[in-house]
Amino acid sequence: MTGSFVTRFAPSPTGLLHLGHAYSALRAFALARDAGGRFLLRFEDIDTGRVRAEYYAAIERDLAWLGITWDDEPLRQSDRFSAYRAALDTLKMQDLVYPCFCTRKEIAAEIAASASAPHGPDGPLYPGTCRLIDPAERAWRIETEAHAWRINMAKASALAGPLFWEDATAGRIEATPEVHGDVVLARKDVPTSYHLAVAVDDAAQGVTAVVRGADLFPATHVHRLLQHLFGLPVPRYHHHRLITDDTGMRLAKRDDALSLAALRKAGMSADRIGTALRADPPDIGGLRPAD
Ligand code: GLU
Repeated sequence: MTGSFVTRFAPSPTGLLHLGHAYSALRAFALARDAGGRFLLRFEDIDTGRVRAEYYAAIERDLAWLGITWDDEPLRQSDRFSAYRAALDTLKMQDLVYPCFCTRKEIAAEIAASASAPHGPDGPLYPGTCRLIDPAERAWRIETEAHAWRINMAKASALAGPLFWEDATAGRIEATPEVHGDVVLARKDVPTSYHLAVAVDDAAQGVTAVVRGADLFPATHVHRLLQHLFGLPVPRYHHHRLITDDTGMRLAKRDDALSLAALRKAGMSADRIGTALRADPPDIGGLRPAD
């Protein structure tokens, strides 16, 4: 019998999995197993320019090697663009998003020229240039110019009012999405963004518990707002510690020495990795292969 607990692991097939991914996937998998629930796999592959076909299979191979099995066919976000367009349309109808024609260069120049550019968790906030374009100009530019869609954050968060989520480590958190400013919900090149796709898909997959790294804690403020605006259920969140290397730096995809594929090739067993990652705190010191 499966319980009502549903979690997911959501890697981007833009590189090999490393020990940080393994930690996240093993935690999510253990929570699902302990709860008699379900563990789903989702490929976050909206970044079509960076995705490489070979990484889908490499990720599945690495997870299987760790002893992780998933329920259902993995979901690919690249198959879900129509669902994201439909979600964005609901915000267009409420006038909660606006087209943004700015290039990165223009945004950077505007920020540099401003005496006190406000900052959010990911750096300087979008200065709101395109929010102020009048409707007639917007209507003709939209026909001819590439544009992203940004949320009118002040309007959307005022409309939503106070919002909260339950975090397994941090407790009840009040969402403050406004600190992110007018984030992009649909990019110029793809009809979604990380934030929109995650909010829509966690609900579409029936996810009740989101297990992911503490680096994504700030993003949850935006996801909570989107859940409200789309009328979606709110999962519980488990933001876990990040695995760092011996210099205290968090692991990145470029850190190939600690990719699961490299460790496997170097003769490391999946059991040993599991034991090191389950230690509290995780002890990856002995896992780096000798040069
Ligand atoms: N795709 C994200 C990553 O690989 C994870 C997103 C999430 O868990 O919400 O870091």
